[in-house]
Amino acid sequence: MPDPRTAVVFEEIECKSIVNRVTPGTVRQVPFRWTLNPYRGCQHACTYCFARSTHEFLGYDAGRDFDTRVVVKVNAPEALRRDLGRPGWTRELIAIGTACDPYQQAELKYSLTNRCLRVMRDFANPVSITTKSPHVIRDLDVLEELSRVAEVRVNFSVATLDDEVWHRTEPSTARPRKRLEAMQKLAERGIRTGVMLAPILPGLTDDPANLERVVEAAREHGASYVHDNVLFLRPGTKEWFMPFLREAYPHLAERYAKYYRGWYAPQSYTQQVHQQVERLRMKYGLLRAEPVGPTAGQLAMAM
Ligand code: SF4
Repeated sequence: MPDPRTAVVFEEIECKSIVNRVTPGTVRQVPFRWTLNPYRGCQHACTYCFARSTHEFLGYDAGRDFDTRVVVKVNAPEALRRDLGRPGWTRELIAIGTACDPYQQAELKYSLTNRCLRVMRDFANPVSITTKSPHVIRDLDVLEELSRVAEVRVNFSVATLDDEVWHRTEPSTARPRKRLEAMQKLAERGIRTGVMLAPILPGLTDDPANLERVVEAAREHGASYVHDNVLFLRPGTKEWFMPFLREAYPHLAERYAKYYRGWYAPQSYTQQVHQQVERLRMKYGLLRAEPVGPTAGQLAMAM
């Protein structure tokens, strides 16, 4: 019998359109104007997930519901074909996975990301994907075909290689090393890839040794770029993350309460972290970020 607290409910819906425009004026400057999410909610269940509040728009809670009630846009590929076929569409880059992981477990059942990529390939439409899942290599062939006719970026989110922190904070994701191995396979086939070193968690993953391990491993596994971002806690995430933190890492509760009175950690702290990662990028010969790929922070602002 599945555990009723964690059993996943798939709610199948049909959508008229699947490509969403980032609303002007409601977001910080982002390197893309269009997003696509075949699923809403995410079985990866990361404790810090920036997208949790988006589930509230659907009438669900941002905690357990976000992890276990996955809305599936079953006609996403057909809707995408219609969207890309509209006369005014100018083949701008579309960012996939800004409110969910497009390779979460639901993809094994529905293959919507795969079928959307095939449509993108047919229209030679540029794409940027962000994922924590090695399942992306199932789409190696179509990604390779698409990259021959349009710009393709695959961003792998890897905040730490520490098993204990990974397991507690990203309980239903694949091991970070598995993600890196998948990245290497893509890079070996000529697909441009990079690592989102995010979110960096104060007191947990911000130590120089952790940062260097991730950047060094990114380099070893074919990344062209590394982007870093410190944890931010918007409403909808904070209410779920802070109780987790108090239970899992009580010694950090006071520090986080002080740091996260608002959404962001203090600027002096984030600057220090950015500088540290910048030094590592220089040491390992990596770019800062791709000009067209979304960053974790930017993604969160673009939903
Ligand atoms: S993989 Fe991404 S979208 Fe999914 S829960 Fe984790 S942070 Fe959120």
